Amino acid sequence: MELPRAILVGRNVLEKLGEFIEKVCDAKRVLIVTDEKLKELYGKKIEESLKMNTVLFWEIVMNADFVNVRRVETKIKEEKANLIVGMGGGTCIDVAKLSAYESKTPFISVPTNAAHDGIASPFASIKDSGKPYSIVSSSPIGVLADIEIISSAPIRYFRSGCGDLIAKVTAVKDWQLARDEKGEYYGEYAASLALLSADVIIRNSEKIKFAPKEKVRDVVEALISAGVAAGIAGSSRPCSGSEHLFSHALDVIAPGKGLHGEKCGIGTILMAKLHNLDYEGLKSALEKIGAPTRLREVGISREEAINALLLAPKLRERYTILHKVNLSRDSAQKLIVETGID
Ligand SMILES: [Zn+2]
Repeated sequence: MELPRAILVGRNVLEKLGEFIEKVCDAKRVLIVTDEKLKELYGKKIEESLKMNTVLFWEIVMNADFVNVRRVETKIKEEKANLIVGMGGGTCIDVAKLSAYESKTPFISVPTNAAHDGIASPFASIKDSGKPYSIVSSSPIGVLADIEIISSAPIRYFRSGCGDLIAKVTAVKDWQLARDEKGEYYGEYAASLALLSADVIIRNSEKIKFAPKEKVRDVVEALISAGVAAGIAGSSRPCSGSEHLFSHALDVIAPGKGLHGEKCGIGTILMAKLHNLDYEGLKSALEKIGAPTRLREVGISREEAINALLLAPKLRERYTILHKVNLSRDSAQKLIVETGID
């Protein structure tokens, strides 16, 4: 079980980064992995927050691919960095997380949006890994989430994060299915924690609709908590099931369309129907939040979605409802029509 040692969530906490680092480790050579824009916006604040005896290095990443991971690893070696701080959205955090893991260097996560649960999870999503899903790495030793910064990100990211959280409903259901039918290990506590993070979003969907800014903190905490659930399980099982496979299949079939959490949200509606869950209730929660519930909202055609449903179970052997029902082209189309996601 691998968990963060400290989590700091609050307004204007970025200026406490130096203090936070001191609290979680004794690193004196810190490498910040981020993008150009964030360095420009927050670089000075970070430099001012660090203690006098700390040396700071920067590495700018553009894509979550192995070219960037290797470049960061080289920089870690050259500068003898003993702490990596990944600051940004998925790309910066994933590259920082994997390069830190491969260099056996501790890592702190500083998310600047609330789009997905990779903030605190031990998994990194790297595009050209040959696997459309996540690669095992390690959990951050600390998470610092500045609500002021996260609130200023486009609202679409926040809604995507809500989709990634609602997805835990079908992810856990798939995990239970694998326990019941394949005798797979199932962790009650990790599953409950993941479900709790989905439940907070579903219960608050009305409030999120009318005052999304007031709910940013809850969503960030739920995303961290979901990542911690994966850390407890030692597997992405509590967070990622057939709805994630559908999203990963769309990454292959319709690259660049829709955000991760948006596609997982739509996938959750489909998989909930297959699991005989209240798919309409989940759809209505996503609608209230303003997350997409229809393919056309993310520019995906019915044909692409059918192909994704057929490809999804082939991406990973891990047993889910898609492996059980083994959809045909006709039944995939019927599912799309019946759930009204067209
Ligand atoms: Zn996800």
